Amino acid sequence: MNYKFIDTHCHAHFQAYKEDMDAVVQRSLAAGVGMITVGTQSTTSKNGLALAEKYDGVWCTIGLHPNHLHAQSFVDEDEVESPPPAMASVPLPLAGWGLGEALTQPPGSTVKTRAERFDPEYYRELAKHPKVVAIGEFGLDYYRLPPNVDLDLMKADQAEAVRAQLKFATEVNKPVVIHCRDAHADQIVLLNEEIANGGLARRGVIHCFTGTAAEAAAYNEIGFLVSITGIVTFAKNLQEVVRQIPLSQMMIETDAPYLSPAPNRGQRNEPAFVTHIAAKIAELHGVSVDEVARVTTANAVKLFNLR
Ligand SMILES: [Zn+2]
Ligand SMILES: [Zn+2]
Repeated sequence: MNYKFIDTHCHAHFQAYKEDMDAVVQRSLAAGVGMITVGTQSTTSKNGLALAEKYDGVWCTIGLHPNHLHAQSFVDEDEVESPPPAMASVPLPLAGWGLGEALTQPPGSTVKTRAERFDPEYYRELAKHPKVVAIGEFGLDYYRLPPNVDLDLMKADQAEAVRAQLKFATEVNKPVVIHCRDAHADQIVLLNEEIANGGLARRGVIHCFTGTAAEAAAYNEIGFLVSITGIVTFAKNLQEVVRQIPLSQMMIETDAPYLSPAPNRGQRNEPAFVTHIAAKIAELHGVSVDEVARVTTANAVKLFNLR
């Protein structure tokens, strides 16, 4: 492994980099930062794999994010992508596409995302590729809720998509990348359910962890790691939590293009900035940055079987 750091969760293939994607990736690799670029729906899962295929030191994940289960509006155009050319005419083997007129809107305006359902057949094809190192990101998100949707119905839909993807990860024997917001109690129940069924042999990670120390410990107890973003560079409460999580139980990530760490707040984030997160964790744990790099990279290599 030639990479000192692994940004274990970024979206380097998103629209935010459409002008300079190769420069961003090359800058990161040249700085010794490998990366896992994360899919959030059928198109971004496929596009992430295309980027991973192009570079040593770039791997990808495939999955369906809870924000894409219901059609909803985002002001942030990075969350949506142009449909693949085939979609205009040929019916794809995908369930639940609701193509909206919003797809033709200019970037920068409010865009509506398509509602999707997790289709194992589609993802099974992608999962065969050796650069696909995990299933995700998927999970429960009770924070960003679409308007005018029945809350119980929405939670049930999210749980169904989680169960389907946990089962899928077990089937293809890959770890999972869990997105969980304001829903840790329900999330851990679902993980335990699949583990009790003999699944999730390779476990996974709770990405962008912002919960309590007790919640981190609960995940660690069932064999899950937590991953820390740039929020740790400026949020005092998370700093207190991270101080209590052993390095052996954590990884680092940018979640770029979102969540820029200090001192780059307010700018577009990128994988190379993961070094700021490592530096803050080193400070919180009273160890060297090299030590944080060594342990968190080893954790990532082991979990995702990076090679
Ligand atoms: Zn996420
Ligand atoms: Zn993400």
